[in-house]
Amino acid sequence: MASAVFIISAPSGSGKSTLVRKVLELDKGLNFSISYTTRPPRGQETTGQNYNFISREEFMRRLDSDEFLEWAEVFGNFYGTHCSVWDRARKEGKDLLLDIDVQGAQQLKERIPDAVTIFVLAPSQEVLEQRLRARSEDAEPVIRKRLAGAAKEIRNYHYYDYVVVNDRVDDAVETLLAVIRAERVRRQRMDERIRPILSSFGEQL
Ligand code: 5GP
Repeated sequence: MASAVFIISAPSGSGKSTLVRKVLELDKGLNFSISYTTRPPRGQETTGQNYNFISREEFMRRLDSDEFLEWAEVFGNFYGTHCSVWDRARKEGKDLLLDIDVQGAQQLKERIPDAVTIFVLAPSQEVLEQRLRARSEDAEPVIRKRLAGAAKEIRNYHYYDYVVVNDRVDDAVETLLAVIRAERVRRQRMDERIRPILSSFGEQL
C-alpha cells in the first residue's frame, strides 16, 4: 500500500509528545521522523532517540547540501526533517509520522500534497501554561517565549485537515488513531490492495 504521511503540529505544552509516543506504541505501521536540531538536549533526551542533536555549523552544511525535506527556525533553534526518513518509510512499507511546526507542515504539504495534517490543541491557555511549568525543563524566559509563541501558533489551526483537542490523553490518542486508520483506507491509497481483489474477479483497475 502507498505510504501515508501524517504531520502533527501543536504549540509546545499541548501534550503532543505524550500523544505521539502513545500513538507510536499502539500503531506499529508508523515510522517516526527523528528530526535534526541545533537545540541542546532537555532532560533525558538523547541523540537518535528524540532528535539528532547537531551544531549550527553542521545544520548549515546539511542545509546547503539540500538534505532536508523541510526545515524551520523555532524559538531561535533550527529544526529539519531529513529526506531519508520518507524514503525509508516507503521502502519499509510504513507510514510516516512527523512532529513538526506550522512552517514545516506548510513546506511539507507543498512537497507531499496528500500528507495528512493534524493540529493538537490544549483545552485552554491556563492548561497550556500549567503543563509548561509542570514540565519544568525550561527556564522562565523560555516558558514566556513558548507561551507567546503558542498564542500566535494557535491561529494557524485552519491550515490543518484535523484538529484534536487534548483534554483527556486517552481520548486524544484514540482520536488520532482513528484519523490515521481512516486515512489509510482513502480510496486513493488503496490501489495496491484493490488490484489483486479486482483481478480475482477478472477485472482490472
Ligand atoms: P521542541 O524544542 O519543544 O522539541 O520543539 C519545538 C518545535 O519544533 C515543536 O513545535 C516541534 O514540532 C518543532 N519541530 C521539531 N522537529 C522539527 C522539524 O524537523 N521541522 C520543523 N519545521 N519543526 C520541528
